Amino acid sequence: MFFKIKNKFGKARTGVISTPHGEIKTPNFAFVATHGFIKSLDDKEHKLAAPELTISNTFHLYVTGKVNEVKKVGGLHKRFKIKNPIMTDSGGFQVFSLGWGKIHKIGKISSTILLSTSNVDSSKNPVKITSNGAVFTYDGKKYALDPKKSIKIQEDLGADIIFAFDECTSPLHDYEYNKKSLIKTHKWAAECLKAKKKNGQMLFGIVQGGIYEDLRKESSQAIGEMSFDGFGIGGSFGEKQMGKVIEWALSGLPEDKPKHLLGIGAIEDIFIGVRKGIDTFDCVIPTREARHGALYSKVGKLDIKKGLFAKDRKSVERGCECFACAKGLKRKDFHLLFKTDKEKAQKLATLHNIFFYKTLFAKIREAINSGKKNALDKLEKEYRELI
Ligand SMILES: [Zn+2]
Repeated sequence: MFFKIKNKFGKARTGVISTPHGEIKTPNFAFVATHGFIKSLDDKEHKLAAPELTISNTFHLYVTGKVNEVKKVGGLHKRFKIKNPIMTDSGGFQVFSLGWGKIHKIGKISSTILLSTSNVDSSKNPVKITSNGAVFTYDGKKYALDPKKSIKIQEDLGADIIFAFDECTSPLHDYEYNKKSLIKTHKWAAECLKAKKKNGQMLFGIVQGGIYEDLRKESSQAIGEMSFDGFGIGGSFGEKQMGKVIEWALSGLPEDKPKHLLGIGAIEDIFIGVRKGIDTFDCVIPTREARHGALYSKVGKLDIKKGLFAKDRKSVERGCECFACAKGLKRKDFHLLFKTDKEKAQKLATLHNIFFYKTLFAKIREAINSGKKNALDKLEKEYRELI
């Protein structure tokens, strides 16, 4: 078995996913490495950051023509000298959000008025969706992506964990749209399983269904019955009902397989997910915020570029052992660096936030393993300024 559950506390659990590139202790977090590296880091710094898991994007590698280049040298690990386990997404989220992102003008989480397909001007949609896949225009060029192609690309990229191609709906898509969309997502899931030829990669199926209880449960049942190695929960979760949606999405999935929550990574949501039984997460939040000067600390996120940090001699986070803090960098040093050497500042901030997230997940695992009743609550309180 490539996944072993170690301890359980309520629905929260710790475990180990074994991959050809080592073990992933769960719960854990996949840092986004869009084109192979985590943005602003090179291979040496990637090593320093030592992320236990990263996720690269099929869509970006595909539209920038890098897939063949990666394939030729034997996959992402070899091309980028990465030793830790890697995931690739299916490209579905980027393709479909390219369409609805433009029309609905929104991101992943929203609670605004729902739109039906009838009041959306589809002539403006740069993505054409058929029952077989999607055709889309990006940077003036036309591309096609479907289950077979997504799997082929992900096999060429050679990540340890790959995802099925699904239609990721917008938070503004209504019930009817989501219902119809599920038919495609489930058909494509079966096609992805059939298309997978390569061994040594785990294929995760994706549960969709928007914020609708019956659709999430139906999708969970349908995807859960297929022979995937693990599962992803995709799509939209709403602002207030994240916990419920996750619960519905997990309801039909086999207990003994790993579950990944796609694109979610705010501290608050991590605690919600872990308590519901999510094993892995991925999100741009910690690394993107680092590049913008938002440094994580348990007393809140520090917007280090603000004047109030110019003379602050405290460390960013007490006891932090990241590369920058271990070298003695204080808040004022980060503040100055963002003015004088932005590139270096972004690297160091990225290393700090990665360390912060890695520490958080180590503590989450420790809390679950302790078996103590209030351990997760206590930990959550420690992080309350970030929630
Ligand atoms: Zn640090």
